[in-house]
Amino acid sequence: MGGLGTALSPLRVAIVGSGPSGFYAAEALLQAPIVAEVDLLERLPVPYGLVRFGVAPDHPKLKSVTQVFEQVAGHERFRFFGNVALGRDVSAAELAAHYHAVIVATGASEDRKLGIPGERLAGVHAASDFVGWYNGHPDCSDLHFDLSQEVAVVVGQGNVAIDVCRILAKPIDELRATDITEHALEALAASRVRHIHLVGRRGPAQAKFTHKELRELCSLPGWRTVVEPEALVLNDESRAELAHPDQANGARNLELLRRLEPAHAGAEKTLSLHFQRAPVALRGDGRLQRLTLEVQRLAGPAFQQRAEPSGHCLEMAAGLLFRSVGYRGSALPGLPFDERSGTLPHRDGRVLTGPQQALPGWYVTGWIKRGPTGIIGTNRADSVETVARLLEDLPSLDAAKPGRAGLSSLLEGRPRPVIGFEAWRAIEAVERQRGAARGKTAEKFVRIPDMLAAADGRLSGAAP
Ligand code: NAP
Repeated sequence: MGGLGTALSPLRVAIVGSGPSGFYAAEALLQAPIVAEVDLLERLPVPYGLVRFGVAPDHPKLKSVTQVFEQVAGHERFRFFGNVALGRDVSAAELAAHYHAVIVATGASEDRKLGIPGERLAGVHAASDFVGWYNGHPDCSDLHFDLSQEVAVVVGQGNVAIDVCRILAKPIDELRATDITEHALEALAASRVRHIHLVGRRGPAQAKFTHKELRELCSLPGWRTVVEPEALVLNDESRAELAHPDQANGARNLELLRRLEPAHAGAEKTLSLHFQRAPVALRGDGRLQRLTLEVQRLAGPAFQQRAEPSGHCLEMAAGLLFRSVGYRGSALPGLPFDERSGTLPHRDGRVLTGPQQALPGWYVTGWIKRGPTGIIGTNRADSVETVARLLEDLPSLDAAKPGRAGLSSLLEGRPRPVIGFEAWRAIEAVERQRGAARGKTAEKFVRIPDMLAAADGRLSGAAP
């Protein structure tokens, strides 16, 4: 209908999820040449999703993107609705009734499983749980990781696997001044892990680690890195892959692995990188003690090589295992979901209910749209694309929607308090004060009641 997107009739959009893709979608809407009111819903009282809960505490530069998000939040047509979850506090039907459009930006927080026997043994964990635990995610604050074990295995060849290895191996004094949670700091300070096996099913040419991350991991003080020499002998297809200009990252990784020093002086602990190995069984009496790795062969043409079992197996002793084989999104009540890919079905960001059937007014962006790939900045282009499709649809959107005022009065009747952006700033200020008292950038609250208490001034910045 004509007129939507003007001062008299602003476009009212709800975005669900306040990680990078949600904030970038808000930014794109607020920068568009229309008048849009943007309400950003977040199930936790605190914003920023994976920037707060995924980025490793020793990589603070990656978190500086929150300055951009703060600017977005300062826009007069923006509101933050923290502590409001789709499916818990508000339904998909209610959002559709209140907003011209809804953008789902809920990310991908579930882990993928290995699907092998023994995966439920004590000592076997999702990397995402470990990451959530050291970063203070309320869903992970009561987890326990037995770091009295000497041998840990990390399965996967991506940057999350590297983060897990690095946090396990980093000298504790280099973590003390970060915003890592106190419970993680205490456990890591007492850690007895002295051998980490990083295990991946394909070769160094196919590993997804970025060079910077691999280089940092291979130069941690006190650790020597070892690779089986045969893993660095490439087949013709892998050589062809690395000769491609787009594969400079893989070529640099290989060069680094070929030049590893035999041992750092004084290195007492060992990081072993294993390529073309896949765990096929995890064993132990109640808790993990051993695993079987099957040697993998690379099969298929260059750029499409897959890992295939060779039938040749090796045994390894280990008391801890982290699977880091990718994330997946979760289904949202009342919305379509593709179980296979763990994403919302869509075309160019428009949510689909069938192969050709769009769900009017519903859009998707970020990891729940394209799967868990790319860096934080990748989400900006992704959200710009989704918002462009939404704006194309403007003439067909149903104009009569109450928007923010309607949602606010709906939520007033619900039991949970809504945390606005100012209340989040109060939480953040207390976290910083608690951190300063310990020489850290922040001491995050890891429980929702404590976040809520800080938001309304009931918790001070004194160290607990
Ligand atoms: P990822 O980069 O996609 O890596 C997943 C790894 O799991 C791949 O090596 C994959 O091997 C392996 N895998 C999948 N299924 C497997 C199975 N059944 N058995 C054995 N291995 C399996 O994912 P991620 O590490 O979770 O990272 C997610 C995204 O966040 C990535 O884009 C990453 O770059 C980004 N990230 C960036 C940073 C940073 O910039 N510092 C830090 C953390 C994360 P195949 O290749 O053989 O499938």
